[in-house]
Amino acid sequence: MINRIKYTFLVFSFFGLIAASCGGCSSDDISSESDVVIDSSMDDLNVINVDASLFLTSNGSVTVTTVPCTLSDGTSTDCYQIVATSNPADHEMGPWCPDNITDGADKGGIWLENGEVYDVDGAFIENMASFYNDSTWKMYDANGDIYTTETEDDCANAANPNVGVEYENYCVECLPSYVTDLTQTYQIPITPIKQSTSTDFGGFGPPGVGGNGPSQRGLAFNGVVFDAPAPTDAILGAYTLAPFDDAGGHINLNAGYHYHAATGVSTQITQTDDHAAMIGYAMDGFGLYAQLDADGNEPTDLDDCRGHEDDSRGYHYHVAAPGTNSFINCLNGAYAN
Ligand SMILES: [Zn+2]
Ligand SMILES: [Zn+2]
Repeated sequence: MINRIKYTFLVFSFFGLIAASCGGCSSDDISSESDVVIDSSMDDLNVINVDASLFLTSNGSVTVTTVPCTLSDGTSTDCYQIVATSNPADHEMGPWCPDNITDGADKGGIWLENGEVYDVDGAFIENMASFYNDSTWKMYDANGDIYTTETEDDCANAANPNVGVEYENYCVECLPSYVTDLTQTYQIPITPIKQSTSTDFGGFGPPGVGGNGPSQRGLAFNGVVFDAPAPTDAILGAYTLAPFDDAGGHINLNAGYHYHAATGVSTQITQTDDHAAMIGYAMDGFGLYAQLDADGNEPTDLDDCRGHEDDSRGYHYHVAAPGTNSFINCLNGAYAN
């Protein structure tokens, strides 16, 4: 059944950001064992600076400059300022909505449900009433043609929950052509600074939900943001479907193209050991890595934020499985205010 959430959750756009709280996030408890260590345990960390050359700047869709910044722990330092358009250099965007219920998986994107990734092919659309055990779902006509938003106005309206029944049973897709003039600006500390306590991600939502941190989790090398969880319950509650493309991304008119899943499509940097590939940077400047290593295993020693450390990479995070509609759970480093 669909779990409807109150519209008070929704600010401006239900494809926008809502809070994801990380209840129980705690600091990484690094004890100094029996070594004679005079400095605090944090000084043991191998600190790796952000490598600006890893960002894909050649097609002009991403620019990186160095700017002074103040971090959440009060540190005055330098940050990389990353300005990104909705035009990733390393992959095409879309498709999202298939045209007809006979279409194969190549004509549509993906949907995330209960930790699983589903292809949004024609059959998925055809079977939504049984998939969600709700006969209101019927997103296609007698010819099997799927009702899909056609214009930028449709895209804007379907994202507004107050529009209501007019867009029920629409597959919502906002096209790259709607956001060609849009840029997003981010700042990431060049030298990450681990904190003694973690910070929950912030975001839109009712009072008390979400932490003080940024709502965005990190950046891929193509400048596309790893965003807060998509409010899939609200999307489904309005009897709409806003698929992600096979790269885990979709578009809204405010945020542009953004990811809700790391599916391995954006640039990955293979590691020389069997460690999982690097996929970007978290907003605190620590590295973001894929969920699984070369043998298909997830690290077993991740902290509450999904981070751990090793000699080669220092402290870093591993994103969650793509079906979880999430990446990491909190930040253990200072972030740019
Ligand atoms: Zn989204
Ligand atoms: Zn690791």
